Amino acid sequence: MYSGKQYYIDAARRAAAWHKENIDRMRRCRFDTIAVHGIYSMQESLDFNQGSIIEPMYMSTSQAYRDSDEMEAALGYEIPTWCYSRIANPSMYYMEGVLALLDGYGAKEDTSCVATSSGMAAIAAAAEALLVVDPKNPNKPINFVATCQVYGGTFQQFAIRKHQERNIEWRKVINSNDINEWAKLIDENTRFLYGEMPSNPGQAFFDLEKVVDLAHAHNIPMIVDATVATPALLRPIQWGADIVVQSVTKTLATSGFGIGGAIIAKKRIVTNIDNDAMKDDYCMYLKALPNRDNGPNISPMNAILALNDIRTLRMRVDQCSRTTMKVAKYLAQHKHIEQVDYLGLENHPLHEVASKYLWLVDAEKDELYGKPVNRYGHLMSFRVKGGAQPTRDVFDAFQRIWRATDLGRIKSVATIPAISTHSQQGEDGRKIADIPPNLIRLCVGAEHPDDIIEDLDQALAVLDGKKVHFTSPEYSAGGASSATLKR
Ligand SMILES: *Cc1c(COP(=O)(O)O)cnc(C)c1O
Repeated sequence: MYSGKQYYIDAARRAAAWHKENIDRMRRCRFDTIAVHGIYSMQESLDFNQGSIIEPMYMSTSQAYRDSDEMEAALGYEIPTWCYSRIANPSMYYMEGVLALLDGYGAKEDTSCVATSSGMAAIAAAAEALLVVDPKNPNKPINFVATCQVYGGTFQQFAIRKHQERNIEWRKVINSNDINEWAKLIDENTRFLYGEMPSNPGQAFFDLEKVVDLAHAHNIPMIVDATVATPALLRPIQWGADIVVQSVTKTLATSGFGIGGAIIAKKRIVTNIDNDAMKDDYCMYLKALPNRDNGPNISPMNAILALNDIRTLRMRVDQCSRTTMKVAKYLAQHKHIEQVDYLGLENHPLHEVASKYLWLVDAEKDELYGKPVNRYGHLMSFRVKGGAQPTRDVFDAFQRIWRATDLGRIKSVATIPAISTHSQQGEDGRKIADIPPNLIRLCVGAEHPDDIIEDLDQALAVLDGKKVHFTSPEYSAGGASSATLKR
């Protein structure tokens, strides 16, 4: 019945056309519909998945083949295959499909996505494939130009793993909204430009269109870490960027079940590297070659868990953004607060440039708004008057806001970056990134705003000498095994 490699190649061609038709149909839908359904169709459910309305999770390391012909075609990448879960997996495919459409929403170019086990793995994979030497000049040192206001893990990856250990120079942009700073750092050995916007925790932001033009004038790609904005507010590819990296762990997968990451790129990226496969479809290239060899893939379980949270992205980002604005305004007028960093506040120096880019997707199609609406996300930070100790006192007094080095959660979470996420980069590193010891990063969840403000209010009252009463029992409700410290 099944015979010959050509049989499989023909069948794969028909299947690919069928999948493409479905994806093209989805592409014409609104953002919320894409987020909810992704690329999983009713026909796929009924024909191949027992009618399950939720995407299947294939907890399997590998795929079996009907015969040696099919195996040969699959391993030669002549037919779509997932063969081995380090390379691909059906559950991962659904997550990649939806993220490619969401980050490509409204863009002129076609996009694709490759999922990774974490945001850091996404950044490493996206960057390292480009950090290759010129074969004609293998001893020539190479460099990349990136903003210094980046996530702490990114700072370490760039400064230690690349710059210090491998002599791949990180040329740091200190004030990212100054286009001349970017321009003067680029030379013919620069492989890419990289920026995080808004940055975590500092809320740095820059005029992306200008930096993209600069990158393309030098025939190099622009990479943007848009984790804090999410595609509900910012889709860098629409503004000309080539590659987007996401920590899916954060707002995208808000429940906080697991770690995940993704790279989304337009199929044809701009690059000065002579590699046709890379130029043809960057994410497919990463998936089929470098990621196959380096192995940074996400597990099917984490992919499906992330997928389930992505469905409600736009509504969550809208509500959490509105609540964060309320909280920011409350803090801005508080006597113990020195400064509030939130791009949504009109007096923030980058408010204007941020307002050019941060729009709630489809607000003009929403019956509640009916017009474009700016939203600024749920990450903010604030500085407590009086230095490090009063800051720790306020932080220690939170009763509803969790003390954790995390963000993007459905629950409000806060940290002191100088002693946690950004402690490794040292005082000098924190100085150029503007992360003082009295800065608290707050990521506002989906609780009622009044309850968050109430918690902040009672915590700030410790600076007036008010005592906080904790009522922790000796043991947690879960059982005697998890003894807690009496306070
Ligand atoms: C958390 C974070 C990362 C790293 O992502 P992980 O999933 O934790 O590896 C990268 N960039 C930004 C902006 C982040 O907040």
